[in-house]
Amino acid sequence: MKNNLRQSKIIPPQSGAGIILNNKERLRVVDLEGKQVADLLAYNWYDPGEYLSTGATIDINASLNIYREDCLYSNRYNPMLLLLEDTVGRHDLIHPPCRPEMYRRQYGIKGSHSSCYDNFYLVLLDYGLDYSHIHTPFNVFMNTHLRQDGAVEVKKPLSNPGDYILLEAKMDLLVVVTACSVAESDCNNYNPTSIKIEVMA
Ligand SMILES: [Zn+2]
Repeated sequence: MKNNLRQSKIIPPQSGAGIILNNKERLRVVDLEGKQVADLLAYNWYDPGEYLSTGATIDINASLNIYREDCLYSNRYNPMLLLLEDTVGRHDLIHPPCRPEMYRRQYGIKGSHSSCYDNFYLVLLDYGLDYSHIHTPFNVFMNTHLRQDGAVEVKKPLSNPGDYILLEAKMDLLVVVTACSVAESDCNNYNPTSIKIEVMA
């Protein structure tokens, strides 16, 4: 397997970045400082009406978790990304991206607050897409606990500095990643930090 680094981007705290990932290329998402969530959206490069669906992924894998050698699937039930390596083993497929209304409701924040939703939008604009293309993301490193009675609790990520996942594209993709903006909870350990993404051809 070739391992040529084609592109590398640092996503500063509370921001996002887009990357084109060709079929069979690999994407590494690195938590540089530890305990930081990265929200990830993906689209069929030729048709953004086909996008990463956490619902289809849960359905096909018959699991609320994702493990090495599982795929992330599209809303049309096609494999989009294969999880090749994972040094953490705990991610989230159920939470929507944080957004201004969430900060208002959950934390009483009246003023502006950076959010994954707005950061996705800013990146999507560069690719001719808009708010209507923002779906439930694959929340890398997000440590969500589901109890038997249905209760949901978000705990500190298990990721340490340098931990990563490695995904292989199963089609030509646009991938958008954010360094999650939440500073008010365990989600990012009360301290939003940066994320690195690398593309290997
Ligand atoms: Zn977020």
